[in-house]
Amino acid sequence: MTFVVGLTGGISSGKTTVANLFHQQFAIDVVDADVIAREVVAMGTTGLAAITEHFGPTILNHDGTLNRSQLREIIFADAHEKSWLNQLLHPMIRQQMQYALAHTTSPYALLVIPLLVENQLQSMTDRVLVVDVDETIQIQRTMRRDGISYPHAQNILSAQATRAERLAVADDVINNSAENHQLLPQITELHQKYLAMSGRNL
Ligand code: ATP
Repeated sequence: MTFVVGLTGGISSGKTTVANLFHQQFAIDVVDADVIAREVVAMGTTGLAAITEHFGPTILNHDGTLNRSQLREIIFADAHEKSWLNQLLHPMIRQQMQYALAHTTSPYALLVIPLLVENQLQSMTDRVLVVDVDETIQIQRTMRRDGISYPHAQNILSAQATRAERLAVADDVINNSAENHQLLPQITELHQKYLAMSGRNL
């Protein structure tokens, strides 16, 4: 069984930056829940067929791909539709994540799940690693990266789990409030720890 480190954090906390460092520096395999969530509704999938049957063909773009922004609007406005969609997709996503994890070859694997806390997916991991960042800095980085206003960024943050809720489930924490170059020493230390925990440092 692969030793799985669940990596989570709020919007723009630095999950991708951290996962890339684990991969580039230590060749750790990364499974990304967001990528899998897109794969299960790609063209030709049973996921997309079920969504089209439920919402009708107007949920598709002209090229037959899922109109994600329309679907987002529907489930934002209707809690029942949101729960229908989650019941359809969450088991598929979990199954695909398990499949991808079973095919990793590094001593341990990183499972990047932005909504780990919101969707209570801790049980899929052996250890939860939270990328923690001061909220003011998080808002600034989101505004800069996505070119959005302060209130818009604030709205996105308030729809997610809070910093405290995330820290409450964290086994390990990476502080990303400072400069990028402060990440590698923290990651190196955690890498040594995970090698020891996974029993693959012998
Ligand atoms: P999301 O889940 O919103 O896609 P994320 O958690 O994967 O985001 P990243 O994409 O790694 O976060 O980083 C978000 C933005 O913040 C990027 O533009 C990145 O370059 C920047 N960033 C990350 N860490 C730092 C840092 N320590 N100093 C300055 N900018 C940073």
